[in-house]
Amino acid sequence: MGLFSNEKKVDYDKIVDKMLPDAKKEMDESQYDTELGLNMARDARKVISGKLKIEDFHKVYSSSLTKEFGNYYASGDGPDIRKGDGPKWAMVIDLKKCVGCDTCTVSCKAENRTPPGISYNVVMESLEGEFPNIKAVNLPRPCMQCDKPACAQVCPTRATYKMENGIVAIDNDRCIGCRYCIVACPYGARSFDFGESYEQEMQGANDVTSPEYGVERGNREKGKTPIGTVRKCSFCFHRLQRGEEPACVETCIGDARFFGDLNDPNSVVSKLAASPRAFRLKEELGTHPNVIYLR
Ligand code: SF4
Ligand code: SF4
Repeated sequence: MGLFSNEKKVDYDKIVDKMLPDAKKEMDESQYDTELGLNMARDARKVISGKLKIEDFHKVYSSSLTKEFGNYYASGDGPDIRKGDGPKWAMVIDLKKCVGCDTCTVSCKAENRTPPGISYNVVMESLEGEFPNIKAVNLPRPCMQCDKPACAQVCPTRATYKMENGIVAIDNDRCIGCRYCIVACPYGARSFDFGESYEQEMQGANDVTSPEYGVERGNREKGKTPIGTVRKCSFCFHRLQRGEEPACVETCIGDARFFGDLNDPNSVVSKLAASPRAFRLKEELGTHPNVIYLR
């Protein structure tokens, strides 16, 4: 029994819950039906956990979705699986090595040029335990790239889809900004792009935007995509296409992050995922994240 004897009692899921957006407020700010969004988020999680059949989900919601979204509504049995160009990507984060320096958050912002108010990666900090055995816990949280993503389940336009390489993508040209996915995500990994900018503080900030998902969008301008749509971490898909690791992995000063192919049993991430220290956030939901933590 030592200073860290309370370590196993850390409730990481609770730390995530503290950071979730206010779902009702989020929906009230959207121009679309609040009740529909909240109910779909609840029932999408039931579909994911196997408590509700997908056919019944569609039966309940298809007419409301047609009414609410008209031609934007893309019906179907579930998220599209579009072809990726590689293996099944996964990230392992060793919580024992994370020092809470936020380098990952900063490098992610710089890489993806996210606007004020949006961080694809955050490091949640929490004091756990009881005096004198108090411990500072750092919990980095990118998008989990869930195998069964609640965000994709609720997306009425199918702008959110799962790629074969494990990454959950957003087609910002299809996204209408209804924000249903924001309240459906159990990890708080999505944000709405209100169009804010660092241009006033730093001239030229709008000149280059990140080519997320490989799409070059040029200058950031009012009314231009991705403004008015939802955004999140893509595992730096544009960097993967160049054979580079995600920015957060490359810059982690504690060497706490590992990235690789979960389909390869010899990869570092596969080996670490098999560690007795490995766990996923909110495993009971059935989302099956491709971000794995080591406690
Ligand atoms: S963590 Fe990512 S993939 Fe999973 S539900 Fe949230 S936004 Fe979707
Ligand atoms: S905000 Fe965009 S990605 Fe999210 S559910 Fe609506 S259309 Fe889909």
